[in-house]
Amino acid sequence: MTIKTTITQTFKPKPPKGDISFGKNFTDHMFIMEYNSGWHSPEIKPYAPFLIDPAAMVLHYGQALFEGLKAYKTDDGRVLLFRPRDNFLRLNSSCDRLCIPQVDVDFALTALLELIKLEQDWIPTDELTSLYIRPFIIATETALGVHPSHSYKFMIILSPVGSYYPGGLSAVPIYVEDDYVRSVRGQAGYTKASANYALSLKAQVKAKEKGYIQVLWLDGVHQKYIDEVGAMNIFFKINGKIITPALESAILPGITRDSVIQIAKKWGYEVEERLVEIDEIYKAHADGTLEEVFGTGTAAVISPVGELYWEGRTITINDSKIGAFSKRIYDELTGIQYGKIADSFGWTVEV
Ligand code: PLP
Repeated sequence: MTIKTTITQTFKPKPPKGDISFGKNFTDHMFIMEYNSGWHSPEIKPYAPFLIDPAAMVLHYGQALFEGLKAYKTDDGRVLLFRPRDNFLRLNSSCDRLCIPQVDVDFALTALLELIKLEQDWIPTDELTSLYIRPFIIATETALGVHPSHSYKFMIILSPVGSYYPGGLSAVPIYVEDDYVRSVRGQAGYTKASANYALSLKAQVKAKEKGYIQVLWLDGVHQKYIDEVGAMNIFFKINGKIITPALESAILPGITRDSVIQIAKKWGYEVEERLVEIDEIYKAHADGTLEEVFGTGTAAVISPVGELYWEGRTITINDSKIGAFSKRIYDELTGIQYGKIADSFGWTVEV
């Protein structure tokens, strides 16, 4: 398929340096292709709103999914993507779960590279800034009645984003949710179904009202085992070992999570992927072996956790300071992403 490209007549002003809030500014162009018995009509065109029929199925039954990754500008002006193929593979896994036709990964990657090439002046260059990439798919068939849609739109939009930590890496307090659940075995927790995020809002609002930045989800059956954070996977350093919940159907297989595991193993750490009880974490804290807790995800890369609240009990981790391992892995990953550290894993793709 050839991608038709139409260049905008009116280029937008770039957001002011040092003031780029997450997801508020969008670039001049977007990618779009349609599905009707096959994906067709791929186009890069000026970023603009589009018409949608009030009966479009996505508006009623939520058949939609998304992905999230970033493009980084290096000091010598090159543009790097971090493991983009993995994002499109995960997009296809979400497609499968939601009865949405999969996309051709090589074609999606080609389309993304073309779009980024066109928009590369939008990639901010201040330290630790980047261009956030949001691919997504929505069901567009105009019909009521619950069934898989017969038509879809696949789109990619881009948004310049500032450093996640303008004041430097800082530790966050997290609320362990003991009432609502995010997913259960057999549901779609392992995907980036938009509905997963809609259903997480209630607990997120509750946590914010109590002064916590994020929710830590427990498993949906026993509310005993740790799953993940709102938009991050979670890691613990206990007695020198790196421990993270094993992937099962309720947990999103984070690309940052996998990268942390591979780097930690390369550094010689013992890494355990297994069931982790919340009680085990509180016990490790009590006996002094809980050294660090941190979340991993595209947005923050590494987010140290300074405090956990669970069923009326608060624990403070590492004095609410950044642990040495969290800092080291953050420096390593951002170093690879911004082309400052040699990428021995072959993760970066140059645009
Ligand atoms: N878990 C959830 C629920 C997420 O939304 C995300 C972000 O995409 C992650 C984990 C981290 O995934 P990744 O490292 O691929 O960004």
